[in-house]
Amino acid sequence: MGYRACFDIGGTFIKFAVVSEAGELFLQGKTETPTKNVTMYIPQILSEKVAYFREYYPIENIGISSCGIVDHNKGVILFSANIEGYSGFPLAHEISEFTGLSISVENDVRSACLGEMWLGAAQGKENVVLLTLGTGVGGAIIQNGRLVSGAGNLAGELGHMSIIHNGENCPCGGKGCFERYASTSSLIRYYQTIVGQEESIDGKEIMSKIKQGETAAIKAYQEFIDYLSTGLVNIAHLFNPECIIIGGGITEQGESFINEVNSKYKEKVMPLYRESTKIVLAELHNDAALYGAFVHAGNFVKN
Ligand SMILES: [Zn+2]
Repeated sequence: MGYRACFDIGGTFIKFAVVSEAGELFLQGKTETPTKNVTMYIPQILSEKVAYFREYYPIENIGISSCGIVDHNKGVILFSANIEGYSGFPLAHEISEFTGLSISVENDVRSACLGEMWLGAAQGKENVVLLTLGTGVGGAIIQNGRLVSGAGNLAGELGHMSIIHNGENCPCGGKGCFERYASTSSLIRYYQTIVGQEESIDGKEIMSKIKQGETAAIKAYQEFIDYLSTGLVNIAHLFNPECIIIGGGITEQGESFINEVNSKYKEKVMPLYRESTKIVLAELHNDAALYGAFVHAGNFVKN
């Protein structure tokens, strides 16, 4: 039985577990992501965990899922907006110095997509797109069973496809990006515009207002679904995946959410795509990227 040390490095937490070939997670936990001296502390945290894992399991190698733009072939973090001092960091090299094991590093949304293909919503599928809806919108594309990376590892930034010409300003420098219209922050913006006040509210509170049947919250939610489905239509027309998986906190609504998204999507997409590309919910949630780290550490491991 193969065991790999798997990590998911996010802006707030570093999650970890030993993942087995059978898809079991052992010694699972999380620790806060350091906010200073990350190039020293992150390798230190990961190396200590690996040493601990090795007391219990024969660890073959290490799979790391990380936020930011990742050069998978070189194991380098090209850019990170969430962790200060992390951009340009040769993560794979540093960890292998400490552990002597081979390392595979890939972006977290791409990792999550691989995880969903292994054990989640896209099992047995070869053409898959994953969208994560949070403060922003993350994306990953798999075609013919392989991650689409692009010329500079930049493929799949679906949150930054422009859906409104000269629309809302986006932190990426663009205007009218999909994530300005289909993220939790946009749902909040719609709500605030409708109620006409700047009252601070989060996505969860809006969701509970929707459940209570509050008109303004329902209106904001429908606007959100409307924009989301527009982006889904673009993705379906571009890639015609077997499924587009949607993950993120907002999907906690479950069946009612995905049914509404599907019905709006089917209204807008070309008829042939209605059955060909289905919109489904993510299944692995917080563990998806850890499972995906196991997958890419197996398929594409670099020595
Ligand atoms: Zn953007």
